[in-house]
Amino acid sequence: MQNIEKNLNQIHALIAQAAAACGRDPDSVLLLAVSKRKPASDIRHAYELGQRHFGENYLQEAQQKMQELADLDIYWHFIGAIQSNKTRNIAEAFDWAHCIDRIKIARRLSEQRPADRQPLNVCIQVNIDHEDSKAGIELDAVPELAAAIHELPGIRLRGLMTIPAPRETLAEQRLAFAQLAKALASLRQQGIDCDTLSMGMTQDMEAAIAEGSTLVRIGTAIFGERT
Ligand SMILES: *Cc1c(COP(=O)(O)O)cnc(C)c1O
Repeated sequence: MQNIEKNLNQIHALIAQAAAACGRDPDSVLLLAVSKRKPASDIRHAYELGQRHFGENYLQEAQQKMQELADLDIYWHFIGAIQSNKTRNIAEAFDWAHCIDRIKIARRLSEQRPADRQPLNVCIQVNIDHEDSKAGIELDAVPELAAAIHELPGIRLRGLMTIPAPRETLAEQRLAFAQLAKALASLRQQGIDCDTLSMGMTQDMEAAIAEGSTLVRIGTAIFGERT
């Protein structure tokens, strides 16, 4: 538990350093604390230290924590794959969903978003390295899916998300993220108003920030190894 405080301070320092290195405002990079398979008490502790955005991958697990933490003003991000039979619960309970890669799922989320809530913030997941093991669409399919999502009233397209394959050097990491940044820029040129690059984890955060990441997703480096 004491480590969470130390770890959060360390991550904030790393974000500040990476932002300074490329002349960016550190406040332009949101830290998403990935709390999957960690207890609600860890989330509460991080919250007390000022952390507000938390990411979860498994619906049932997240719902249980949401109940335990209902007294807190948390922004919940769903960062796992979304099956059709989970869309209603996700649309009702979350503020963000990062892994949209099918129009069918997007339509269901839009239809099922409660009318009294702001549209659900979503990102399109891009499979930048064409890996069979990963979800997401190819880069060249982004404009069409983005245009379709843009029409849906219950969700708001905020941007793009990716998990690149591991790379050896900072320069190679940057090349992967630069592709996503370029795709976001062309969406904006296309008239789709979006502002989010959900990219960068512990190993490649520096490169992601150099290429314009606005949201880094960090789990282990905050909460420790998952068992
Ligand atoms: C688990 C997960 C993370 C965090 O991973 P760590 O290696 O624990 O930092 C980030 N993004 C996604 C999509 C994840 O599933």
